[in-house]
Order: sequence, then structure tokens, then C-alpha cells
Amino acid sequence: MSTATMPRGDFVDFKEVKSRITITQILERYDLIRTLKRSGDRLSGPCPIHRGTNPTQFRVSVSKNCWNCFGNCGRGGNIIDFVSLREGLPFREAALLLQEWFMPDKAGSTLAESSVVHSRRSHAPSPPLPEGASGQQDASEDDEAGENPPLSFELKTLKADHPYLGERGLTGATVQSYGLGLCGRGCLRGYIAIPVKNRDGKLVAYIGRWPGTPPEDKPKYKLPKGFKKRLELFNIDRAVQVPDEQPLLVVEGVFDCLRLVQLGYPRTVALLGSSLSARQEILIRDAVGEGGQVCLMLDADEAGRHGASDAASRLSRSCSVRALDIGEYRHQPEQLEKVEIEALLRTR
Ligand SMILES: [Zn+2]
Repeated sequence: MSTATMPRGDFVDFKEVKSRITITQILERYDLIRTLKRSGDRLSGPCPIHRGTNPTQFRVSVSKNCWNCFGNCGRGGNIIDFVSLREGLPFREAALLLQEWFMPDKAGSTLAESSVVHSRRSHAPSPPLPEGASGQQDASEDDEAGENPPLSFELKTLKADHPYLGERGLTGATVQSYGLGLCGRGCLRGYIAIPVKNRDGKLVAYIGRWPGTPPEDKPKYKLPKGFKKRLELFNIDRAVQVPDEQPLLVVEGVFDCLRLVQLGYPRTVALLGSSLSARQEILIRDAVGEGGQVCLMLDADEAGRHGASDAASRLSRSCSVRALDIGEYRHQPEQLEKVEIEALLRTR
């Protein structure tokens, strides 16, 4: 998601925050420096995140501007991660708070957001949001408004036997059931066409995925003109038909979703990206109901972690949400083996 489309009040440049603020400044602000021992580039002491007592578990690299706990919590990361965990704030709000503390030149543009930060930090209830609104709007309003109209045609000549689909771990049965295949004509020519259906099962788009590494002039994914992917939640039409014995699994990509369905998790939906849109938030709330269970399984990268932390804080207002960190096993859910998924779902 390009930051250029964000409303001004939400703007935070994570890279700039991480490069301009030092971990030492933060530890000083929390009055933690005195609890740490310095040895060259490293600071070590008891972990202030899980509030441990072992004097060597928490380690900071000053030059790398990062930290790790080798004890109970096992957490670690950059300066924003630290403030996020310490304050119990979503990643983005932690970055905004840092901006407010240490970058007064930027804080002016975040006034609206910092009032939210303050109200959450003082444990006051979140400000009421209008129906359908979201705590964070990462896309311009235009991307989130209206409907994708159902298509008046179907691509009937897609080739389902392209080897790429097998390489992505999909069986012939899955490919056939979801109607994927190589497109031989039109703007998706040469792409694997992936049908996308809305909540009611109406076909609203074909997304194109180049089979393999695309040539330089072709994008990896191709969306039809005018199609707003943030209005759709891939596989929601089928997921809502499944009895809710297992939690609703939320992943980023179509292939993650199809692999999980194939492995026996039919209640899986894909965001078609790493962040939860306002519409997707509503679709998920509707699907699981009040107090329903949602498991977030986003990619083990920075975008996935931001996305999961934001989605968890928004969905937890009405659902029981767990954000599973798949990083211990794989980078993306589509690479997970069934035993690994089972192990992840058992973690508390
Ligand atoms: Zn710790």
C-alpha cells in the first residue's frame, strides 16, 4: 500500500522513525538505562517487556538499534516493536507515539491520531466510530467505497493443467473447484486467472498471477481496471457455509488460502494483501458473530506483522482474535505442513 494514498492524519514513516530515534533514547525515556550494563556495543539486563529478573536475558545492540529477550517472552525487534510491546499498542500507534516524543517536527501532522493514542493509553474506551468505519484507513476512501459489480461473463477456456498450479502445491481437485487456469486471451493473456467471488458467491473479478517470475514489463499480479480488492475477502462465500467448529483463519494471499482449504481448513479467507480493510473487517465480524474466533496467519515479514497487529486490535473489539506468528516454521502460510498448522493452532 503506497503511503501516498493515506490521509494526512495517519501518516507515519516507519523507516524514518527507526532511523532518527535511537534505542538508547527510548531506554532513557523509560528510565531503564540504569538497569542495564554496557559492554562495548551491547547493553544487557533484566527484560523490561516480560519484567524478568535474570540480569542477562535482555540484550540491546546499540549500533543495530535493536533488542532481544533470551528469556521467557522471547520477544525482540526494532524500536517500534519495543514501544508497541511496552505500551500494549498496535505497531502503527507505537510509531506515532515515538514520533510525538522524539520528532516534534512530524508530530503536527498526527494530531488526530495522537488523541486516539492518548485515550487508549489511559485505558479510556476507544472513541466511537461510525458504522463501517475503521480505526485506520490505509487506503483512500474511494478504494473502500461502493461495490464491485458482478461480472456479466465467465472465462470458459482457462487451462487448468498449467504446471505452475502444481508447483504452488495445489491439487487438480482444488484448481477445478475454484476454477483457476491459464488465460489465453485478453488483458490476462499469459496469466493464471483466479476467480474472485463476493460474499454472496457472485463472480466479481478475475485476478491474474503470472506463472513464475514475470518478464520485466509484466506485473506479478494483475487486477482488472476499476476492481477494488479491498471490498472483497477471498473465499468468504464458502467459508460462511462451513460450521464454525474451527476458528476463521485469515491469510494474505489466494495461494495461502487455497493451500489451507486443501489441507482441511475450509474456513479460511484471504485479505488479498497484508492489511485489513474496513469492509473486510465487517465481513469477518459478520461471518464469526459476536465473540467468534478468528486466527490471523499473516506472512512472517514486517508488512504481515503490522497488518496482524492492526487487524487484531480492530477485530478484538467484538471477536476473540489470535495472531499466530508462523515465522518459527515458514515465511508464508502456503508453505506450512499440516502438523505445523496444528501446532500453531494449539499455541495459546
Ligand atoms: Zn522478555
